[in-house]
Amino acid sequence: MGKPESPVGMVEIAGRSGQKHRGFLEAGLLLLLLLVTGALVTLGLLYADSREIKPSKDNVETCTTPGCVMAAARILQNMDPSMEPCNDFYQYACGGWLRRHVIPETNSRYSVFDILRDELEIILKAVLENSTTKDRPAVQKAKMLYRSCMNESEIEKRDSQPLLNILEVVGGWPVAMDKWNKSVGPQWELEQQLAVMNAQFNRRVLIDLFIWNDDQNSSRHIIYIDQPTLGMPSREYYFKEGNNQKVREAYLQFMVSVAMMLRADLNLPENSGLVQEDMAQVLELETQLANATVPQEERHDVTALYHRMDLEQLQNSFGLKGFNWTLFIQSVLSSVKIDLLPNEEVVVYGIPYLQNLEGIIDVYSPRTMQNYLIWRLVLDRISSLSQRFKEARASYRKALYGTTVEEVRWRECVSYVNSNMESAVGSLYVKEAFSGDSKDVVKELIDKVRAVFVDTLDELSWMDESSKKKAQEKAMNIREQIGYPDYILEEGNKHLDEEYSNLNFSEHLYFENGLQNLKAGAQRSLKKLREKVDQNLWIIGAAVVNAFYSPNRNQIVFPAGILQPPFFSKEQPQALNFGGIGMVIGHEITHGFDDNGRNFDKNGNMLDWWSNFSAQHFREQSECMVYQYGNYSWDLADDQNVNGFSTLGENIADNGGVRQAYKAYLKWVAEGGKDQQLPGLELTYQQLFFINYAQVWCGSYRPEFAIQSIKTDVHSPLKYRVLGSLQNLGAFADAFHCANGSPMHPTVRCRVW
Ligand SMILES: [Zn+2]
Repeated sequence: MGKPESPVGMVEIAGRSGQKHRGFLEAGLLLLLLLVTGALVTLGLLYADSREIKPSKDNVETCTTPGCVMAAARILQNMDPSMEPCNDFYQYACGGWLRRHVIPETNSRYSVFDILRDELEIILKAVLENSTTKDRPAVQKAKMLYRSCMNESEIEKRDSQPLLNILEVVGGWPVAMDKWNKSVGPQWELEQQLAVMNAQFNRRVLIDLFIWNDDQNSSRHIIYIDQPTLGMPSREYYFKEGNNQKVREAYLQFMVSVAMMLRADLNLPENSGLVQEDMAQVLELETQLANATVPQEERHDVTALYHRMDLEQLQNSFGLKGFNWTLFIQSVLSSVKIDLLPNEEVVVYGIPYLQNLEGIIDVYSPRTMQNYLIWRLVLDRISSLSQRFKEARASYRKALYGTTVEEVRWRECVSYVNSNMESAVGSLYVKEAFSGDSKDVVKELIDKVRAVFVDTLDELSWMDESSKKKAQEKAMNIREQIGYPDYILEEGNKHLDEEYSNLNFSEHLYFENGLQNLKAGAQRSLKKLREKVDQNLWIIGAAVVNAFYSPNRNQIVFPAGILQPPFFSKEQPQALNFGGIGMVIGHEITHGFDDNGRNFDKNGNMLDWWSNFSAQHFREQSECMVYQYGNYSWDLADDQNVNGFSTLGENIADNGGVRQAYKAYLKWVAEGGKDQQLPGLELTYQQLFFINYAQVWCGSYRPEFAIQSIKTDVHSPLKYRVLGSLQNLGAFADAFHCANGSPMHPTVRCRVW
């Protein structure tokens, strides 16, 4: 299953990032390095002899290059050697990091990953602010968009006016108008209204309609109909008690405040009773919608979600009290000049939702519907308005994320421009910060890890030979994308500029620039309906610290942003590269064989290539992990347990990834690879591998965000990603001599791949 906004990554992009005191920390690190480097050359040699498992004598050669010294200092600072690795490896590997970091007020989570993203933003700030006259059009536009976002005085001066302008165009926000019921109400049509929201503003409210690769035919695109997202991040906020209720109240208050502000700006009477009543109705409607949706954990089986049908079947199955599906879909597609075919097919993912919608759709008046639809547009636009609108949002954000301070402006702007113009910004990033020859090294690592995945199939007694053969074919057929697409650096290649040819930004019109981006985003995706799938298309930009697997393409992607320490460096020992990017590679490959990916064949078609025997046993092996992770109770999230079903795919990928990467490292050593010894670390290479693996996940959450992410994040909490995967790996217990029965060497272990 592939939805446009949910690529299967290593880490969800959660909350805004931000960091204070970085300068101080880094200066401290460098000072420490200068002090210890000299002495450690000899210490490394001494310590190497004092351990049971040690690098063989002829391998002992302490590396003192800047890359090695930095790596050594990083590892030393992040770990807490006073902890017993066999009791709680996470505290052992990350205790130092956790002790020395406080979550910044702007962040809901703070981790090694988040810091890498912060650092990437610093690079992007510099390149976006660099004004030269020689920029190509795509880059000029990115810089213009950034400047318009930074133009705070203009944004303050224009205040609510740009929002009020579009409200007029979209039929008005009844709560902030007089006489909507009489003026607009009588001609109001739900189908048209939903189509405008979808095609012009990329807000897919009430019914989610989007174009994506057909799961059953990976070479073509098709129309999907699904349950929508909601204004709050997950359905639980609408009806559960406790913190959820606080969030709900803050959400309602936020709506009311914005409506009151707009009424005042329009010189309408305050009429706070009416505003309260209107917005309470909106929340009630949205609560009904939330109730109608199916929880994410029950939507894991893509083969059960997928229902392809023609328009007549769609209309007959989901009448929705006279809702005209053809009118709705045709209105959306008209925006990109596409006509529905007589035999047009759609894929319905959200059958239960549409059935439930039947009982909701005509309960609320057009006024309430319109109030809701426009609220969803207003909600999206708050970030591009003046300061007082963001202040109206502050309590809601505090309840939702636990953050008390808005992100600094330039970070907000950098991240906005990067996510809306990823190719243009990617080209700037790659030129500035990425060394092209890393591509070959990473390619070699991919081949090594892939070979291990294939070899390891032999060990699996739960799978029969015919399924192993298919799995092998699929693994060998995974295509990779590394770093960035070549065309973004080719000056003579017009493609980059053409991507943005419809965009004409103004330095003074940030809000309207944002509207252009919403429309361009919607149309880029809608236009694909009649196009063949472009197998070379990059599904993500280069300036991204993450990695992806696409089941519809059977493709793995490693953007330039993740090809840096601690994941990867040509200047650090291979034990760290295998424990870092090697594990990421294994993780993404394994996604092709997790509970979702396994439903797709080597060409990205949803097709069952499993024997009954193997499929049955896959489920049994998986159940072990569902139970294992489901037993982790997370203190930060009110002691709620991790959802073993929602996180299954990621847990399978984490477990497979670290196992394959470790084997690939041992194989590299066995084939004569000579690793370098790090200064100041009394550790074997095997131990270093696991420590670097764990340290990628050092981080902490605010409780508010823990409660949110335990419902919305398909990844297990950082701590359990480390503990869960290593408890299952015998080689880890060997590397640290963990006694049988100790927490990191449990008697029951789970394994899928
Ligand atoms: Zn993943």
